[in-house]
Amino acid sequence: MENNLLKEAYTRLYPEKEIPFLCGARYSNRLNDYNSRISLKNNFLEVHMSKKWQAVDEEIKLGLVQSLMLRLLKEKNIKTTQNIELYHNFIKKLDLAITKTESEPVLDASFHRVNEKYFNGFLEKPNLSWGNETRVKLASYNLHTDTIAVSSLFQEAEQEVLDFLMYHELLHKKLKFEAHGLRSSFHSPEFRNLEHSFEDYTQIERKIRGVLRKRPQKGRGLLNFFKEFI
Ligand SMILES: [Zn+2]
Repeated sequence: MENNLLKEAYTRLYPEKEIPFLCGARYSNRLNDYNSRISLKNNFLEVHMSKKWQAVDEEIKLGLVQSLMLRLLKEKNIKTTQNIELYHNFIKKLDLAITKTESEPVLDASFHRVNEKYFNGFLEKPNLSWGNETRVKLASYNLHTDTIAVSSLFQEAEQEVLDFLMYHELLHKKLKFEAHGLRSSFHSPEFRNLEHSFEDYTQIERKIRGVLRKRPQKGRGLLNFFKEFI
């Protein structure tokens, strides 16, 4: 029955056309929370969705599938659809629905400090975890799982440095994204303005470089740190 999901999504995008692929859609235990992915191999178009998607309204799932399809097909002419709008609205509120299972005392304390100081305590705590010890991605926010992960490089970093990474990621949780058709902007001008309001913002870059320098990694220079975390 889920095969119809792909056909229906395609037909609504291209009412004049027959879908030129064989289709498959499945729910997978391997994907967390509301993650999903799409692949096209040998004319077989397949969508994997986490089990959580099973219970989601069909119109919203059609939007998910359409946005995956349009990205895969590199479609330039279709900017958005009603279903995609529904899907965007759904994922912007997802963090409210996700059960929080992951936490960690140091990150937990950082969350509470930052939430009190910069968000008047209004933000709901996301999942918090230490990520791999990587300098490619210092920290990230996954809105499909409502999880902030901070690179383990920062496990013993100064409070202020950790709090800045936490602040940046919490801004993502708060602002979500601005959809411009299929392209979403995560670091909007509003985001950057708020980011710069972090206390002693100008000192933070230097301090982060300090943390990275203490853990040199062969064969890699330091990238501009603003590109290193999302
Ligand atoms: Zn970011």
